[in-house]
Formats: sequence, structure tokens, C-alpha cells
Amino acid sequence: MAQKKIVKKAVKKAVKKIEKKTVKKVEKKAEKKIEKKVEKQVEKKVEAKKRKLSKTELGHYRARLLAERDRILRELGRITEAINESAEEQEAAKQSYSNHLADLGTDYMEKEKNYYYADQEGQYLKAIEVAMERLDRGEYGLCIECGDLISEKRLEAVPAAELCIKCKDKKEKLERGH
Ligand SMILES: [Zn+2]
Repeated sequence: MAQKKIVKKAVKKAVKKIEKKTVKKVEKKAEKKIEKKVEKQVEKKVEAKKRKLSKTELGHYRARLLAERDRILRELGRITEAINESAEEQEAAKQSYSNHLADLGTDYMEKEKNYYYADQEGQYLKAIEVAMERLDRGEYGLCIECGDLISEKRLEAVPAAELCIKCKDKKEKLERGH
């Protein structure tokens, strides 16, 4: 009887020991799995942050930015000319008294429109120049908000883009207030 009890106790102890060991093993395995997963995630993130445009791609965007800058400068020249011309015309009209008031009004609107265009183009020119500076610093093509690479499609459409599409949407939603 006593012997049976001892055996029972011993078996119980052994089972408990094995159970404990198994639990520990499973726990360790799970831990290792999680660790590996986290490691992989971090690696992936670092990789995403590290990714940069290739030299060929950078050369392509540099050429595009330069072309855009040339186009804007030409456009600004044209607008300036138009503003000067309309100023001369207005002066001439005032002196000859031949122009109707309506014509002067149209001239005035034309001038306002040209000022507006000049302002818009000027702002765009600034954005292009900032993008070129970022290119020189090796930051071009990376979102200034999250550091991710801006998609090729977006850079093609907006070569001066500083935000990836996700961050741009987020910012626009914030600006709209919802
Ligand atoms: Zn972003």
C-alpha cells in the first residue's frame, strides 16, 4: 500500500516535471517566434526607410526638374512681358482718350489675371528649386513626413512632391477638418 503511494507520488512528480518542461519549451518556442517576427518587421521597416532612388532615376528626375524650371522661367518672362505691354497700352489709351471705359476694365482684368498667374508660377518655381536642393542632399523622392519612398507614378506627375500619397491624403483631410 505504502509502496503504491510512493510510486503514485513519483509518477505525479515526473508528470509535473515533464509538463513544466513542455510548457517551458512551448513558451520558449513562441517567444522565439515572436522575436523573429518583430526582427523581420524591424528589418522590413529599416529597408523601406533605407530605400533610395537609383542614380539613373535621380538623373531622370533632375532632368525633369530642370526642364520644369526652364518652362516656368519662360512662362514668367511671357507674363512679365504681357503685364508691361498692357501697362503701356493703358498709358497710351489714357493719353489718346480713344479707349472706352469697358476696354480699360478688360485691360485691368487681364492685368489681374497675369499677376495671379505670375504668383502661381512663382510658387511652383520655388517648389521646384526646393526639390532640386533635396536632390543634391540625397533626400529627393523620400516623403518628408514618414520617410517612405514616394511612388514613381506620383513623382512623374508631381516632380516637386515632398509627401507620399498617404501622407498627402492625411494632410488634406486634416486641412479640411475631418
Ligand atoms: Zn509619407
